[in-house]
Amino acid sequence: MEFSSSRARLKQARLAGDRRELYPHSLQFYLEPPTENISLVEFESFAVDRLRLLKVVENLGVSYARGSEQYKTKLQSELRKLKFPYKALAEDDYDARRKDHISHFILRLAYCQSEDLRRWFLQQEMDLLRYRFNELTDSLRQKFLEYVNLSFEALTARSLPSIQSDERLQPLLNHLSHSYVGPDYSVQKNTGKISLEQIDSLSVKSFPLCMRQLHKALRDNHHLRHGGRMQYGLFLKGIGLTLEQALEFWKKEFIRGKVDADKFDKGYAYSIRHSYGKEGRRTDYTPYSCMKIIMSNPPSQGDYHGCPFRHSDPELLKQRLQLYKVPLSGITQILELVKGMHYQLACQKYFELTHDVDDIGFSLNHPNQYFTESQKVLSGGRELKKELGNSGNSQQRSNTQESMNSSCTPTSSNTTADAELEGLAAYFTED
Ligand code: SF4
Repeated sequence: MEFSSSRARLKQARLAGDRRELYPHSLQFYLEPPTENISLVEFESFAVDRLRLLKVVENLGVSYARGSEQYKTKLQSELRKLKFPYKALAEDDYDARRKDHISHFILRLAYCQSEDLRRWFLQQEMDLLRYRFNELTDSLRQKFLEYVNLSFEALTARSLPSIQSDERLQPLLNHLSHSYVGPDYSVQKNTGKISLEQIDSLSVKSFPLCMRQLHKALRDNHHLRHGGRMQYGLFLKGIGLTLEQALEFWKKEFIRGKVDADKFDKGYAYSIRHSYGKEGRRTDYTPYSCMKIIMSNPPSQGDYHGCPFRHSDPELLKQRLQLYKVPLSGITQILELVKGMHYQLACQKYFELTHDVDDIGFSLNHPNQYFTESQKVLSGGRELKKELGNSGNSQQRSNTQESMNSSCTPTSSNTTADAELEGLAAYFTED
């Protein structure tokens, strides 16, 4: 959206170098795209912070009534933490307003590429704008409305052709729309701490639905197609399976099916070593985030990968949840979230219901995060133990169960790893 007279004012302010005139209000209608040069580092950090903010907006929007005190307090604290403008009258707010402006346009570019993404982005931005508008005093609201002129011009997607030809930006933008802002689970704290014998029971207690589904399909069919092997193999690596364990695990299962030991050693073993960085370009591959699973490579017939909240037929999802003893009222809540396309929130609800906690206490972004947090809950906050039997069956909430986001390292710049992953897929093409 662009609004013509404000546009002219902005141009004038920019020409005159007047910082205050550039952003006279804490609130913006994002009338004109930024034209200044910024570094790729700043570009990415702005985008990642806004993505974090919009995830919080989404999360709060389904957890609390919009406009309730809790909603407002939590949103304000996130705005403050991420250094976005949060007080209507804050002085010297130039940096925060500039960040608000630029980050909005970066995500607009990243999220205008498909209908699904567009809808998600618009919903969160609308909620954010509504909150911030309602926080203005009456007179500021009036001034703001006077400042903007509502003569309407066309949308961001038209800028895409020129952006798409920029080879530095396009990979970043593509990556952002699938982006994940959390720890890098290729660094395994728990390497070697689980035994193969534990996997069956862990899959029931602590795997998210996507991985539980893959594990069951593998046990039932003694085989997974390449999309499933990629998604599940990297997840297992992330929860701590060593290379030797992974080779043993996959081999034992596959030779129970149609693959003989020789074929396994010649084909599949190579690809497993490759995913551990022991072959080819020796890249240590990163387990997939929820966004990557939800947004790319949808499963087709005979596949078990993907996110069940995104890719399963709702009736099948309902049956599976019933089978897993999720209470009916919980199933209804989950299906409502799925209907609203809040797939990760549906998964959070599944976590709460299967761990008997009222509030998950973190924002779910990654299947390995789900596993780690589940282990914390089940063990009362202790590190993963070799013998889970010793951890007791306490379902009580861990007091260390806090958002992993607060200490996370953004990994959205990992475009090289993504390219490598595409390369790795080639090694997994055998069905
Ligand atoms: Fe797996 Fe994430 Fe989907 Fe949960 S939301 S099932 S962790 S992909």
